[in-house]
Amino acid sequence: MKKTGVYRRVDELGRIVLPKEIRDALEINIKDPMEIYTDGNSVILKKLEDNCIFCGRTKDITKYKDKIICSKCIQSIMALK
Ligand SMILES: [Zn+2]
Repeated sequence: MKKTGVYRRVDELGRIVLPKEIRDALEINIKDPMEIYTDGNSVILKKLEDNCIFCGRTKDITKYKDKIICSKCIQSIMALK
């Protein structure tokens, strides 16, 4: 984990502003979904990657009817018939 030297206060609604420099460096854009993890008493924010709705893979993915599916799961589904 890399220390940024930046700190922000949590506002009355529980919000924290991510500094623009960090958003730019990590290519986090307005309305991007962020996944929230905890580790002990740390909070970790991770940009939500598109992943397969069946297995969670993020490689070789395709969007079909607004759902994300990977090539391996497509092959598995095709093998069902
Ligand atoms: Zn899959």
